This record gives sequence, structure tokens and C-alpha cells, in this order.
Amino acid sequence: MITGKNYIGNNLSSRGNKTYKTFNPLLNIENEHIYTEATSEEINNAVDLAIEAFKTYRTYSGKQKAVFLNTIADEILDLDDELIKTYCSETGLPEGRAKGERGRTIGQLRSFAELVAEGSWVEASIDTAIPDREPAPKPNLRKMSIPLGPVVVFGASNFPLAYSTAGGDTAAALTAGCPVIVKSHPMHAGTGELVASAIVKAAQKTGMPKGIFSNLNSSGIEVGEQLVKHHGVKAVGFTGSIRGGRALYDLAAQRDEPIPVFAEMGSINPVVMLPEALQNRNESLAKTYASSITLGTGQFCTNPGLILGIKGEELSAFIQNLSNEIVKIEPSCMLHPNIIDAYENNKQKAITQQNISVVADYDSDVKTNYARQTVTTVKGEIFLNNPTLHQEVFGPYSIVVQCEDANQLEQIITKLEGQLTGTLIAENEEALKYSKIVSALQNRVGRLIYNGVPTGVEVCPSMTHGGPYPASTDSRFTAVGIHSIKRWVRPFSFQDWPNALLPEELKNENPLGIIRLVNGKQTSEKI
Ligand code: NAP
Repeated sequence: MITGKNYIGNNLSSRGNKTYKTFNPLLNIENEHIYTEATSEEINNAVDLAIEAFKTYRTYSGKQKAVFLNTIADEILDLDDELIKTYCSETGLPEGRAKGERGRTIGQLRSFAELVAEGSWVEASIDTAIPDREPAPKPNLRKMSIPLGPVVVFGASNFPLAYSTAGGDTAAALTAGCPVIVKSHPMHAGTGELVASAIVKAAQKTGMPKGIFSNLNSSGIEVGEQLVKHHGVKAVGFTGSIRGGRALYDLAAQRDEPIPVFAEMGSINPVVMLPEALQNRNESLAKTYASSITLGTGQFCTNPGLILGIKGEELSAFIQNLSNEIVKIEPSCMLHPNIIDAYENNKQKAITQQNISVVADYDSDVKTNYARQTVTTVKGEIFLNNPTLHQEVFGPYSIVVQCEDANQLEQIITKLEGQLTGTLIAENEEALKYSKIVSALQNRVGRLIYNGVPTGVEVCPSMTHGGPYPASTDSRFTAVGIHSIKRWVRPFSFQDWPNALLPEELKNENPLGIIRLVNGKQTSEKI
């Protein structure tokens, strides 16, 4: 049941007087529930509880944490129709998408549960002592990953489940041993509260410490700012716009004790289409890309917002085919009036730049909060020298850049900001011939797709969802898949500690049976 209150640990609380509602973009009306923004005192209470919870939770066994994570997944499933209906009413997204995203959220929680139950993720490393080594004895050193402390999570508007309250960041942080405080996204506060209630129930059922999780409502930036500045918070996970992520990153860096902000932000996801591939597959590529650009009304961080090709008949034909295909697609609803306003404004800014041509624009009437898809084209030289055209237009929009030649194509790729993904559309021989282009692209992105589309992010260990700035604030980490846990831990070494006093992971007997690096060799053997 939605109450509109904050979860401060296990308790519901609404001491403030600033309230707000969520919005149903399909019906173009406000939803009924009223949410109360967290007060400064409630924020401090949540962090204080998290600090206390950390003292014990950090020592919980992998098996205990796995039970907690699996119970969160069960409790989310138990929310059943109420969750799906709330999700749809707060986003305008269809039921199928809500269920799909719920499945992804459950899958993430269960895969982290498996990881932590098995235990090798701590990357234990042991170098045994050599007391009689000359000229100095070698100490007994044992290293493993340990959790950072309380983590604040900011979710994105476009993924109310998988990248929000119990999304990847929260699941990874809880797995690592960090309490989590979620700064709830104002656009899906109801979905957020329901998921928070599932986490709190799971925490109570499985005996987790009070304050292991809190969920704070807010309709502006103040709550998030106070959280990031709080001395008790030790790391931040953010999914959203470049502006928001950068503001929080700067805030965290200005603290007396700077802390890491792992922000996954916007991207235009360049797609390079090479001539032979365009010659062989022009129409099918146009169809595929019309769908990818408009998928989810273009509201994906991996939306293909930039298509790069070398000028010629094949590229001209592709632009024509893409234009024909994209206007056949029925426009759909965006998440919120603010997002559609931002889309219209950013698109307007892009299409009014000099020497840019609009080649496709859905021109029939559309309902309120529905987005018209648009494709533009521009010469390579113009794109190269106009940074406005490099910015994300969040929605069903893409620009096709017609480069003079392969050199200019490479120059453009080199000048792009960091991106989540890059895509190469090529025949195999072409990919070899254009190896400099491939290498330039690899240098700018976190994931390179071959003859596919960037939309769709598989959750699995080999996925990298991140990339050079501004795709993310730290390209060394992924936000998706089990390895995202590495953002919430630090390496820690014990020197010359008695075996009995070491954590299980580092004991001679290897009671957990995990894989460790012992004197330079990977093994699960005892010492
Ligand atoms: P957003 O406007 O940046 O909001 C995200 C969250 O951050 C909200 O809770 C927002 O709070 C908060 N926030 C924003 N600016 C802040 C500031 N200066 N100080 C404190 N808090 C701040 O992003 P969105 O509109 O929800 O999401 C759309 C964007 O996310 C797109 O650019 C998309 O590409 C990107 N995205 C990226 C990924 C990825 O994995 N890389 C995934 C999905 C989406 P308020 O709303 O209360 O201000």
C-alpha cells in the first residue's frame, strides 16, 4: 500500500510539509497519492541508522546476504499487480515493459545472491610469510575486498525498477556489505515506495540490522545534495543526466572527505555504417534503425542518436529509407511533461543549427505528451565544428552525419565525447579494411556492437555498461552485471595476523572453498 511517506530504516515517517504528486502522462493527469519530501532531520536519521547498520552488516556472511537478496526478489514479486499498475500510471509505459523490467530487477537480485553465496568475488589473495628470506623476512600478507560504507543511490526516470530503488546499484551495494539510502525519483515515487516496502519487509524477515535500507522522497535537488554532503555517506551511485551526475560528482569532490560518485549518464551512441554493408542491406538496416531510434519513445541511454557514414549513393539511399520507415511508426507517450518539454527544446536547438537538414519529421497531430520522431542530416565538416550537435536529445531523434571520407570519419569519432556504446555496421572484410575507424571507436566507448543495435543491455558478467566521461564518471567500472559490485568495495590487507583472527575468506583452511590467489596461483585448496 502506498502511504506517501519516507522509509527511515524500517519506519514510515513524514515530518515535513513539502508535498508533491506523480503524473500519468497517458491520461495527462496527476496521480492521486501525495508524497512528503524528507526533512533535513529525517535525512540525518536515515544516515545515522545506516552508519550503525554498517557496523554489523559488513560482517554478515555471504549466505545471510544471499537470503536477504533473494527475499527482496520474492517480496517484489509479491507486490504483483499493484506494482505493475503503479509503474504504468507513473510512466505511461506499457504493462509488458513493466513486467520485463521487473523480471530484469529480480534477475539482477538473484544473480548477486548467487555471487555472494559462492564468495569468490572478494578476490582473496594470500602471500605466505618467508621468515628466513634474505636480506629481510617476507611478512604474511592477505588481501580481500571490503565494503566502503553507506551508499546513496539516485535512480533514473526511465528505469523505475531496474535502475532505481532495488535496481543494479542497490543490489550491488547490499551484496558488497553496504547499507543503502535511496533518493527516490520524484516521477515514480509510488513505484519507489512499493519497492522500498518490499526491501524493508525482506530486511525484517531475514534479520537484517535496522537502517540497512532507507527510501527518501524528494521533488527537488536539496535532499540529494544533503545526502551527498553527509559525512556518513561513503559513495554515491547515480543514473541520469550529465548535468545531474556532474553536479553531484563536483559536490562529492568538494567535501572535506571526497567520496566516489559512480554516475552513469547520457550518451548519443555513435553508429558507424560502412559503404558495402549499406549497399548490401540498406532497406533492412533502415527498418531496424527506425525501430531502434523510436524504441521506448527513444528514452534509453543507449538510443542511437548519431549515425555516421561516408557520403555517397548508399548513404543517401539509407537516409531516404530511414526517413520513409521512421514516419510509419506510430508516435508514443513520453514519461512526463518535463521530459517531452526537454525533448522538444533540445530537438529545436539541434534542428535550428546552421546547415542542418530535417529529413524526417512525423507531421500528423499527436496526443498530449506524445513525441514526434525526427531524423536530421548534416555534412561531416559542420558536425565536426558544432558541439551543440554532439549533445544528447533524449527521445526519438537521430542525426545522420555524411562524412567526406574515411579520414574525416575517424576525425569525428576521435573528437566525440565518451559514450556508453559504439556500433559498427560492416561486412567482415570492410571491418578489417577500416581498422583505424574501429580502433578510434573503441577508444571512445564502453561497448562495441557489431552489426546490431545499441538498444538492449543484456545483464551478464561480460557486459560493460559505462564508458569514458561523460558516459560515466569512472570508465573502469560497469554499472550492469555482477562486476558492478567493485564500485562499492576497497582492497584491504591483513599483515601477520593470526589465522584464527582472520575472516573466513582468508583463513588457511579456506572454509568457504572459494577460489583464491595463493602465492601467485589460483586455487581453492587449503594452505
Ligand atoms: P536526471 O534529471 O539527471 O535525474 C536523476 C536523479 O538525479 C533525480 O532523482 C534527480 O532529482 C536527481 N538530480 C538531478 N540533478 C541533480 C542535482 N543537480 N543535484 C541533486 N540531485 C539531482 O535524469 P532523468 O531525467 O531522471 O533521466 C534521464 C537521463 O538519464 C538521460 O540523459 C539518459 O540518457 C540518462 N540515463 C542513463 C543511463 C545509464 O545507464 N547511463 C540509464 C538510464 C538513463 P530531481 O528529479 O528531484 O531533480
